[in-house]
Amino acid sequence: LSPFLKERLELVEVAKLTIQLGLTDSHGGNLSCRVGDYIVIKRSGKSFGRLKPEDFVITTLEENPFLDRFASLELKVHRAIYKELPEVKAVLHAHSPYTVACSLKFKKIEPLDSESKLLFGNKVPVLKAQKVVSSDEVAKELPKLLKKCPVAVVYSHGPFSVGKSVEEALKYLSALENSCKILTFHAQLSKEG
Ligand SMILES: [Zn+2]
Repeated sequence: LSPFLKERLELVEVAKLTIQLGLTDSHGGNLSCRVGDYIVIKRSGKSFGRLKPEDFVITTLEENPFLDRFASLELKVHRAIYKELPEVKAVLHAHSPYTVACSLKFKKIEPLDSESKLLFGNKVPVLKAQKVVSSDEVAKELPKLLKKCPVAVVYSHGPFSVGKSVEEALKYLSALENSCKILTFHAQLSKEG
């Protein structure tokens, strides 16, 4: 049995759901969970919908160049989140289309629907950074935003959500995408008057 098999199976399941729900593109996105001082994270370059338990890399909470080699490019952001937010056990990142569209339009996303207001309050933060992929700036700034809201969006790139489980992180990612769809439809309907 491979180490952390239970966690790997959970991650595979949630990655599949993320694709099935239309929350990301075929090879975009990454996810991880924390077990004690270890991080179980998606291997770099693997398709989200076809992940197998062996497509995850195990590394440590502290940087470890040897173990980090094959991990997702966004490992630095996942790691920074785990270090700053000890209660977080899972991180999910995707390229959700309506969420990305709303990040281009709004400085912060203000949900109109009651479910997202309940989950996120009045606003979901959008982070503008010079470099958006595998970015030191995102690794530094994003954990601060996630202290206030369980999901935050990197401008023009996509949301990162956190939770006590991967399932919980999926719930937030999905609720935000739903909310951004509603925002978009509402704007369209209002225009048609
Ligand atoms: Zn990405």
